[in-house]
Amino acid sequence: LVTENGGVGVGVGDGQKFLPSDSVINLDHGDPTMYEPFWRKMGDKATIVIPGWQCMSYFSDINKVCWFLEPDFAQEIIRLHKLVGNANTEDRYIVVGTGSTQLFQAALYALSPSNATDPISVVSAAPYYSSYPSVTDFLKSGLYRWAGDAYTFDEEGPYIELVTSPNNPDGFSRESVVKRGGGTLVHDLAYYWPQYTPLTSMTDHELMLFTVSKSTGHAGTRLGWALVKDKAVAKKMTKYIELNTIGVSKDSQLRAAKILKTLTDSCEITEKTDHTECFFEYGHLIMAERWQQLRDAVKRSGVFSLPQFSPDFCNYKRTVTEPHPAFAWLRCEGEVQDCESFLKGHKILTRSGRHFGEDPKYVRVSMLDRNEAFKLFVERLSSIHS
Ligand code: PMP
Repeated sequence: LVTENGGVGVGVGDGQKFLPSDSVINLDHGDPTMYEPFWRKMGDKATIVIPGWQCMSYFSDINKVCWFLEPDFAQEIIRLHKLVGNANTEDRYIVVGTGSTQLFQAALYALSPSNATDPISVVSAAPYYSSYPSVTDFLKSGLYRWAGDAYTFDEEGPYIELVTSPNNPDGFSRESVVKRGGGTLVHDLAYYWPQYTPLTSMTDHELMLFTVSKSTGHAGTRLGWALVKDKAVAKKMTKYIELNTIGVSKDSQLRAAKILKTLTDSCEITEKTDHTECFFEYGHLIMAERWQQLRDAVKRSGVFSLPQFSPDFCNYKRTVTEPHPAFAWLRCEGEVQDCESFLKGHKILTRSGRHFGEDPKYVRVSMLDRNEAFKLFVERLSSIHS
């Protein structure tokens, strides 16, 4: 199972408080349910009501390149980026997608030469996000094909390189690695938000992908957005989405607009007053606490290791912060070769390194599950000894 929603095992249902201590803990997917308490607390501030007559048209604004983008959503995207300072929105086209997964495919379509005899190569540095190879190749397109690890890519000709920063699965900040002519870059910035990483620069790349799934935690809303410099590329991405789904749910866009507005309001207001009411402060606190608990558990166990990250100055928080990635890239030390099976034996479901083009001694573990599951996970991990 290589998509984010795959996997089996006992999860904690909505509002369910208690997890039996022998439960299977499913941390294979990156489901961001950790954020539920914040949004519960926001109550009516983040609630919308859509009357039956609203949102009936296919169209949102026919004068825009992306004619199915709701103006309210576009406005809140710009407002949020301005508050956080993680990406330049000036002179950009915004393209909305059903998750950044659809936008990723739209980007491949838009960046592939339409008259080439062979499909263009798509690469990303290992360990790469496990969905890239499967999403690229599942329809066996004549336009593009997965060509593997960017570090070992040595073919001539044009290519598309996917740069994920911070990276899924290992959490490190990244730049492109191929660095030669004929390449086009897609920057997947799903995790470039202050709860996960110090924001060291206002990014300004040609094509940047974002998603509400990891910024606010609303993965079920299935919305992402692309910031695109080149009008022709934005037009082609829009065409892909037109042919694929004739646009993107307006109901979802209105909900996401309200969610983003509530988020930005929470941080704008608390800049002056209470700190912890701000979504990013809340997220940062929990992530820092969870990473500390995980590092303690790994130390107590003695069987695993974790990546070490360097702190950096975060332009948003105006202080030095440490990266607290959304996933832990855990390595089984010693004899164990297949870390996924080893942990499965302890009723912990994770995703093997081989899905990310890496050694099966590694697994990726979600850090974004509900509190009860995460607590049980660190307790169980710390009791595993060689
Ligand atoms: N890119 C990366 C790096 C991701 O980790 C994910 C989700 N796990 C996505 C894209 C897809 O996000 P969405 O839910 O918006 O399709």
